[in-house]
Amino acid sequence: MYIEVAIPVPLRRLFDYLPPKDATAAAIKPGCRVVVPFGRRQLLGIVTARKQKTDVPAAQLRRILEVPDAEPLLPADILELGRWTATYYHHSTGECLHLALPPRLREHRSAMLQDQALALADDADIELLPARAKRQRELFNFLKASAPLKRAALRDAGFDAALIRKLLDAGIAIEVAAPANTQSAAGEIREPEPAVTLHHEQQLAVDATVAAFGRFQTLLLEGITGSGKTEVYLRCIDACLQRGHSALVLIPEIGLTPQTLARFEKRFPGRVVALHSGLAEGERLRNWQRAANGDAAILLGTRSAVFTPLPGLGLIIIDEEHDASFKAQDGCRYSARDVAVKRGSLNHCPVLLGTATPSLESLKNAMDGRYQWLQLRERAGLAKPPQLSLIDVRDAPLDANISKQLRKGLSDCITAGEQALIFLNRRGFAPALQCNTCGWLADCQHCDARMTVHWRQRRLHCHHCDSRAPLPRACPGCGNPNLMFRGPGTERLEIALKEWFPDTDIIRIDRDTTGRKAAMAESVATIREGRPAILVGTQMLAKGHHFPNVTLVGVIDIDGALFSADLRAAERCGQLLIQVSGRSGRGDKPGRVMIQSRNPEHPALHTLVTRGYPEFARQMLTERRNLHMPPYGFLAAIRADANRLEQAERFLHELRNALSQGTGVNAIGPLPAPMTRKAGRFRAVLLLSARSRRALHSALTPLVYQAEAAKGYSGLNWQVDVDPAELF
Ligand code: ADP
Ligand code: ZN
Ligand code: ZN
Repeated sequence: MYIEVAIPVPLRRLFDYLPPKDATAAAIKPGCRVVVPFGRRQLLGIVTARKQKTDVPAAQLRRILEVPDAEPLLPADILELGRWTATYYHHSTGECLHLALPPRLREHRSAMLQDQALALADDADIELLPARAKRQRELFNFLKASAPLKRAALRDAGFDAALIRKLLDAGIAIEVAAPANTQSAAGEIREPEPAVTLHHEQQLAVDATVAAFGRFQTLLLEGITGSGKTEVYLRCIDACLQRGHSALVLIPEIGLTPQTLARFEKRFPGRVVALHSGLAEGERLRNWQRAANGDAAILLGTRSAVFTPLPGLGLIIIDEEHDASFKAQDGCRYSARDVAVKRGSLNHCPVLLGTATPSLESLKNAMDGRYQWLQLRERAGLAKPPQLSLIDVRDAPLDANISKQLRKGLSDCITAGEQALIFLNRRGFAPALQCNTCGWLADCQHCDARMTVHWRQRRLHCHHCDSRAPLPRACPGCGNPNLMFRGPGTERLEIALKEWFPDTDIIRIDRDTTGRKAAMAESVATIREGRPAILVGTQMLAKGHHFPNVTLVGVIDIDGALFSADLRAAERCGQLLIQVSGRSGRGDKPGRVMIQSRNPEHPALHTLVTRGYPEFARQMLTERRNLHMPPYGFLAAIRADANRLEQAERFLHELRNALSQGTGVNAIGPLPAPMTRKAGRFRAVLLLSARSRRALHSALTPLVYQAEAAKGYSGLNWQVDVDPAELF
């Protein structure tokens, strides 16, 4: 028998090995980790299958070195999900399966997991131990008499690590999850928060989801911000837990705040675990284990949590399904939403996609009847949807990029004792520094981009490659000391607002002010106290937060997004505008939204403001249909970056030339990326488009193998991106 292993290397294939000398293949189960020789390295792979035949010549077959796991770490459904992901995204299976493991388990090949406990194997028999091994027999009896015990407890009882190792190696003891800690046990005593009475549409949504338990069905919950989607999730989860199943909830990176966690924790004390990249590695490992062991009924996580093993999975929820952070932008470029839908089909459970602004993909699926379409058209409680208006700033004098109308709106709002929020998706003081005399511009040395001015730090900073430089006192070209700051940034707004409203709290929230973990929480807490205040921030402020006293939202500059060449720029812009607008009027006071634009007649913007997101989205869908663009066509991008543009383009040309004719796949490019040079690398892209998904995949497969085998491009990197979020 041979063991098929997925190894985390960028090769799109699996590798066959012989079992280690002292073990039979039958003892090595799919889902176990194994240490294998790979070239001159040793790598940690995951067993995907045992097989009778191999294509590898006997002389080249090597042996597995070590099997750290007696029992599979990844169950069959996750193995299958990982394989599907690798196939769909044309990525290495080994790398995809590693996504399912917390970092500690990817790197440490020692078998012992923190917080693991020792128990006897089901078929353990004391007679398997040598009669002379007195201490081993004592440990056997000790384990037999107790519940699974942590290592520390065993050590306290006088059994050392070497002794434990012997029982593990003999297969007599196994590692199991440590029993739930006392903290969660104590949590269960707390009274869960009482639930509100659902309004009619909420009840319909819950009923529809519950009716789908036990089978695969995707449901799109389209509910305006504040309509009570989260309440629907909580009810569905409750019903799911009552059936003895577990639930997986995915939320955007930015949405997994302590507030969100607290809300779930309050309703289901002691039953929620979180998984996201902000956790320390040890905590991530512990939480992963609790989920994988069935010890946590609810897993609340960001993108990669979609791959976490969850016994008895009965419901998957994706909040803010349209959110860009669900699409990975490095490594395997999977969409966690799409992987989750696949997982629902593998696990025979419903997948509930919630959003105020559905992605065009999900909307089309709902319109075609593939997804069940649920709607919440009204805000829960007393809150009313906000009133949107456009402010034409073409010829209006602006002060710090704020129009007279918006400034008046701000002061009215403060006078009324309420809060306002100013949204600008650009941090720093100004996005460019220029000399009016000679035209010099502060460019980044490594990118085709401008340096951003950071005023308090007296610094120029490239937001694309992170390079920094001191703020020049005079123009390096002509010596002119009066350099111009071009365009607005959140820092600049903050400074201006402090001048205009000296007695009001001005709270800026962006990546620069929330560097410390606690800083964001502090700001949010201050805002929620409800004193009059003006919040200034980037999209960190736009999503998820519930600030009941915010009644005015001002949007400073969205024209850039409207005119971007990118496929999804307008869609994103519309979603973001609605999200930001949703921050206002969430309490019992009505909200307004003032949007400054130099293009108030732009048809998409006009539709959005006068007729709302659903009509805006329908208009976009028509446009996409006419262009055969997603969701009416299928796209893949192959991107390359190299030290010279010519090299990246030549590589992509070679791939384009290899594309067979008459396959129904169109190639566009290679084209240089709009920001061709980034961090010193030159970037180009080849786009493939097709009317059918199958045609696209059939064309991609040979192309990707060819790219993998390409020779003579030293220093070149390339990636394939199926269903790209951005073209470049
Ligand atoms: P969403 O997730 O759609 O933005 P939430 O679920 O956060 O909306 O609900 C917004 C607010 O309305 C929350 O404060 C929530 O507690 C409240 N809420 C939700 N459903 C109801 C209901 N049926 N009755 C009263 N209040 C509700
Ligand atoms: Zn100059
Ligand atoms: Zn740069």
